[in-house]
Amino acid sequence: MTDSSKVLEILRQMAQTIEAHKEELTELDQPIGDSDHGINMARGFQAVEQKLPGLEGKDIGTVLKTTGMTLVSTVGGASGPLYGTAFMKAGMETAGKNEIGLEDFLKLLDTAIQGVMMRGKAVEGEATMLDAMLPSLKAMKEAFAKGMSTGETLRAGVKAAWAGAEHTKDLVATKGRASYVGERGLGHQDPGATSYSYLLEAVARAYE
Ligand code: ADP
Ligand code: MG
Repeated sequence: MTDSSKVLEILRQMAQTIEAHKEELTELDQPIGDSDHGINMARGFQAVEQKLPGLEGKDIGTVLKTTGMTLVSTVGGASGPLYGTAFMKAGMETAGKNEIGLEDFLKLLDTAIQGVMMRGKAVEGEATMLDAMLPSLKAMKEAFAKGMSTGETLRAGVKAAWAGAEHTKDLVATKGRASYVGERGLGHQDPGATSYSYLLEAVARAYE
């Protein structure tokens, strides 16, 4: 079971992991983008971190919705509206709730990822964050169906997310800035798929 204060703790972990990998994410965005993904994400999650004390005691929906709105308003670039949409959708899914279980978590992730797909008009295989999001969600649904614990399920998700991020090296981007470089993007790992893997890792760490 996850309560609202645990969600705040996870968001704090997310902010820390993004800060720790800021340069790496920016470097990944250099050959196929405009060298700002780490900077964008760090700016957004720093703003989220600053909001956390004021969210103490609020329901999970409010916490996630505020996170999404903060990301949209502080992150320049494609990743802001995309991650912002994801968190806002997750917030709608958990409106008024003070506790959620693993099944609720998988449902909110599903809704969040659908939101990203609609917002970015992208599908799996276009070398975006979705190539980490979709396979990891699939792996977690399978783990959950097999009766695995929250910790095991999240671990399976993190593993699949990193495999998906790695696989973006073999994909030609057809959405976002990376689509401008076309086949020259081959061999380069997508920054958004990488940041998502780190974010999911932060969630998993909270259940070790
Ligand atoms: P920008 O591309 O505007 O500079 P960022 O560098 O912060 O923004 O984010 C780039 C990441 O956003 C990419 O690595 C990719 O994962 C993701 N992205 C871009 N466009 C889309 C899209 N249409 N759908 C899903 N993800 C996308
Ligand atoms: Mg960029």
